[in-house]
Amino acid sequence: MRILIANDDGYLAPGLAALVEAMQGLGEVDVIAPEQNASGTSNALTLNRPLTVFRAGNGAQVVSGTPSDCVHVALTGLLPQRPDLVLSGINNGANMGDDTLYSGTVAAAMEGYLFGIPAIAFSQVQKGWAHLDAAARVARQVVEQVLAAPPAPGPWLLNVNIPNRADADRLARRVTRLGRRHASEPVIRQVNPRGETIYWIGPAGDAREGGEGTDFHAVAAGLVSVTPLQVDLTDHEALPHWRDVVEGRR
Ligand code: MN
Repeated sequence: MRILIANDDGYLAPGLAALVEAMQGLGEVDVIAPEQNASGTSNALTLNRPLTVFRAGNGAQVVSGTPSDCVHVALTGLLPQRPDLVLSGINNGANMGDDTLYSGTVAAAMEGYLFGIPAIAFSQVQKGWAHLDAAARVARQVVEQVLAAPPAPGPWLLNVNIPNRADADRLARRVTRLGRRHASEPVIRQVNPRGETIYWIGPAGDAREGGEGTDFHAVAAGLVSVTPLQVDLTDHEALPHWRDVVEGRR
């Protein structure tokens, strides 16, 4: 088996090294990661300049672009063979609810999924890498578990969030749906040394829909959250309404 591992925190991130280490013995591992921290870059592809790739001392191939660039370049020419599984992470911080739309970690996995390859994104709930070794053991368990089961039809995409606990690998795992967040906190306005007004994007809002069955709820209850994701953004329920309005069938 061939496993492609990427992330969004950059090729030197402890979470990437932990995930690579955790997959030892499962197959041939290729690591392709961004040169810079590219958290929050979503599915961006770099189209206005060429990308460079170098081999780092830790064995990773390092791309001067986004997480999606890394997996895209890997699958369209850099790798000699198509991988059987794409993994992303382990991210420094949660990717739950609406955050998944902005997440570079989820996007790297999603790029594999869009190419028809099963993919899993892993995140630790709290920033700071506490108990990363336990999170890496969870990643290994989840990979072994899904590979041992009969494969789901077609490609699939899982989003895994792991509480920062020493016993994370002994926590129950719960299959969840995405919760929702409130809108972000207000932008932070400052004046820079040149007297210009600058803006920092504010932190994410609190959970708005974090009820039973959501990723927020599972993690708050001390469980590992596993959310199957899809990419179709169509509002299927609203199709009849908009047909009436837009196509003038009233
Ligand atoms: Mn990140």
